Amino acid sequence: MQRVPAPFRCFSEWHSSEKFTDDGVETVTSVEQRKVERSIQEVISVYKQIHSLPQPTLLRDQHYQYLKKGLHHLSDAYACLDASRSWLCYWILHSLELLEEPVPTSIASDVCKFLARCQSPTGGFAGGPGQAAHLAPTYAAVNALCIIGTQEAYNVIDREKLLSFLFSVKQPDGSFVMHGGGEVDVRSAYCAASVASLTNIMTPTLFQDTPTWIVSCQNWEGGLGGVPGLEAHGGYTFCGTAAMVILGKEHMLDLKTLLRWVASRQMRFEGGFQGRCNKLVDGCYSFWQAGLLPLLHRALFKEGDSTLSLQKWMFEQQALQEYILLCCQNTAGGLLDKPGKSRDFYHTCYCLSGLSVAQHFGNMDLHHELIVGQEENRLAPSHPVYNICPEKVAQAIQHFHQLSVPVPAQKEGSSA
Ligand SMILES: [Zn+2]
Repeated sequence: MQRVPAPFRCFSEWHSSEKFTDDGVETVTSVEQRKVERSIQEVISVYKQIHSLPQPTLLRDQHYQYLKKGLHHLSDAYACLDASRSWLCYWILHSLELLEEPVPTSIASDVCKFLARCQSPTGGFAGGPGQAAHLAPTYAAVNALCIIGTQEAYNVIDREKLLSFLFSVKQPDGSFVMHGGGEVDVRSAYCAASVASLTNIMTPTLFQDTPTWIVSCQNWEGGLGGVPGLEAHGGYTFCGTAAMVILGKEHMLDLKTLLRWVASRQMRFEGGFQGRCNKLVDGCYSFWQAGLLPLLHRALFKEGDSTLSLQKWMFEQQALQEYILLCCQNTAGGLLDKPGKSRDFYHTCYCLSGLSVAQHFGNMDLHHELIVGQEENRLAPSHPVYNICPEKVAQAIQHFHQLSVPVPAQKEGSSA
């Protein structure tokens, strides 16, 4: 493991020279950008005044208490975020596994029972009981159940009906709608590929023409938009690229322009990532953008690129860790978008996921850690495609591969 020696990047003399310059043309965007930089400068200055030794700390216990409270609350009432309750389960459970905090058996069982109630009678999962099945909460529910990883959790998933739900949202051009009568975007292809591969329900026609459709979402910028012709965006780019990796077709993307696009989304002064060109830094893109680099590293390695590092991803891992540790932590627990914003479980999950990506290079065979601050800041590694811990992915795949692939209830040819 490599510990980063002081002084840190954001304490160095030259750091302020990385600030944005508007070339004398002030715009709404440039004013907002400067405002954010000022707030970050202030955070760094306050930190410097209080701490003689730059040793940013991950507030483990505070985050744990915040998450624990969220999970208990969920098991009691589930009062807030009515259509995102399956997501809340995933965000909290994944954050806890990154912090290596076990979930008590009784709570895990409550979550299984709750997610079973979110499963639609026609297959797939909804955001809450009695709601319509939707691909996004289906992804979240399957991930949450795989994190729990018990027989009870696996048994919740009705694979046969899940497969017919996936066929019901598949479109003739290879894309997927998010739900019956809903919108098409590239998130749906990722959600479908993720749950189908984890639960072993891939059939030969389920993803027919999907890679070609995903490639058509990559635009002139190098990143992917939600649908063909739209602006490149971090969340969609991660989803499209991860889906291509699952389908074994990542070589069909223009990997070099994708790499240039994502590397340019890391902010020079802030150290975190923006979601789109000319937008502000946001903690959740620590995963959606930085999480692309492990996928790209692997894809380029498969293509035989001999210039790849064997120790580092192709982004500033140290700068991202500094941004998350100094600017995205609520002192009472939970993580956030940027200084001044409030905490929530979504940003807690994706800030921690991004921190994990920035700390761990490679996998089992070739693993290199780079930890900013104390050793206790170290999080568990996360699987670059599914964003749950790698051993939980392996365990789920092993479990579901003992079962045969269901025969689709719906005629496969009808979707092709
Ligand atoms: Zn965000």
